[in-house]
Order: sequence, then C-alpha cells, then structure tokens
Amino acid sequence: MKLIRRPDTLRAVTRRFRRQKLQIGFVPTMGALHEGHLALVRRARRDNDRVIVSIFVNPLQFGPGEDLKKYPRQLAQDARHLRREKTDILFSPPADAMYDRDFATVVDPGGSEAGRSLTSVLCGRFRPGHFRGVCTVVLKLLELTQPDRVYFGAKDYQQGIVVNRMIRDLNLPVRFVLCPTVREKDGLAMSSRNAYLSASDRKQASGLSRTLFELRDAVRENGRMMPAGILRRGLKMLAARVGRVQYLELLDPETLTPLRRRQPRMLLAAACFVGKTRLIDNVIIRG
Ligand code: AMP
Repeated sequence: MKLIRRPDTLRAVTRRFRRQKLQIGFVPTMGALHEGHLALVRRARRDNDRVIVSIFVNPLQFGPGEDLKKYPRQLAQDARHLRREKTDILFSPPADAMYDRDFATVVDPGGSEAGRSLTSVLCGRFRPGHFRGVCTVVLKLLELTQPDRVYFGAKDYQQGIVVNRMIRDLNLPVRFVLCPTVREKDGLAMSSRNAYLSASDRKQASGLSRTLFELRDAVRENGRMMPAGILRRGLKMLAARVGRVQYLELLDPETLTPLRRRQPRMLLAAACFVGKTRLIDNVIIRG
C-alpha cells in the first residue's frame, strides 16, 4: 500500500490507473477506522482492480463548537488495517493541501428548493453548513481519485442521499454504492465517535438502536400505528433509555419528506446525546 499526502501525486497515480483501464473503487473516510469502514473497503476490493481509501478530517464539515479538534486521529493503526485489506492507495492529505488560504468555492446541496428539502431535515436541521462541507470535499476527492465506484455507509443515511443527488445533479461519472450499517453485538452502530463513550455511556448508547429496532417491530405488528403515534412512543423510549434526543423522524427513504401517513418503505432516523457525545442511527421499516 502506498501512502500519498499530496493531491498532485494522487492525481498522477490515478491518471496512470485509468490509462491502464483499471477499475478504481474509492472509500472516503475521516479515519479512526472500525469494521464499518472496513466493510466498505472489502466491498470495494471485491468490485474493483484498485482500491483507494482517503483519511481526511474535513474541517469544512464541522460547525463551531463541534468536535473537529478532538476527533480521533490514528493514522499508523488505520494504515495497518488498510494494508491487511489489500488497499492500494491511502490518501491522507494535510488540511492546507486540500484548502488553500484563499479557497473560495463550495458545493451547496441546499442551494435550491429540492436541495433544501433534502438538507433541512435530520442532521441538516441541526448542523448548518455540514452537508455543504461534505459535498465540497467529496467532489474534490472524486476529482482527485477519478473512481468508477464510490462507497458510502447507510449509517450516515442522509449523507448518502445528498451525495448521491450531487453525483446525479453534476453528472459525475461515478457509480454510488450504499453499504449496510455494521453494528456491535448489542446493536450499537459502529462509529469513530463511540470512542468518546465512557463505560456507563456505552450501556446507555445501546438504547438508541434497541429503540429503533423495537419501534420497527411494533410498526410491523400494528398496522394502525400512524407516524405521529410512532414518533411519540419513540421519543418517550429514547428519552428514558438514552438521554437528550435531538431528533426522531419518520421520512420517505428517497426524498426525505416527513411522513404523515404510513407507506411501504419508511426511514426511521434519530440523533441523541449520550453525555456530550452525539450519536445517530437509522432503520428502514418495511411496513
Ligand atoms: P466517517 O469516517 O465517519 O466519515 O465514515 C466514512 C464512511 O464510512 C461513511 O460512508 C460512513 O457512512 C461509513 N460508515 C461509518 N460507520 C459505519 C458503519 N457502522 N457501518 C457502515 N458504514 C459506516
């Protein structure tokens, strides 16, 4: 595996891959890798001739007061994991190599009516500018890696929808692949931020996925439960088990429109604080 730090070096390598007609799979991450990330890498390994993984804690997607400074950074350990998964290139640029001091241009997924409806719900409501930061860095990384396929996890469901829309809207020549959420034994969705949890936080945190799964089962069993009732019940369960609830929403999985009536596929998504740690999770309900 080759570690590349400079965007120009990466470009030269990917240009060579493309000349050789090699299929490139790309997995963008912020590092502190866990089995959720590695599942994306394995899928990319299966589908492509070359696998590029990026590790970049993107300052543009963190708001003031968020955890940019304390976000876990462990490049040597991450590199060992990636080598084991037969990654070809690890791209980990310093922030100033991605953003010049006079960097001016951003991709704003909320810049239109349709975009606002995707970004004004769920995390977008509480993290203004977050998806602008995500789209901007993802577009830059796609430009540099020139992949045939790019891999995202369903754990960050809204991110997947927003990026997929950007790919379509901007005619980017890349196939978007969404991979299932990888969980701990007790159901907690794996996340680099789980490292912030103390032992007692960790117990509470498992209440998030447990609640989403229980609600999903209840909705399946009781065909008369309506969205408002589902959310009322869920909010009570989350408040009792997990802690401060930032949101619990039931939406159309494609358009992210909040639902007033039941439909065959529904996205149930939540964000909660366990202590100071913000956790998100979601399930699809086939009702
Ligand atoms: P991050 O490093 O948190 O930016 O995540 C990088 C990629 O890994 C994103 O596409 C995430 O959705 C995905 N990812 C993170 N956690 C998981 C998980 N538990 N299961 C599947 N994919 C995940």
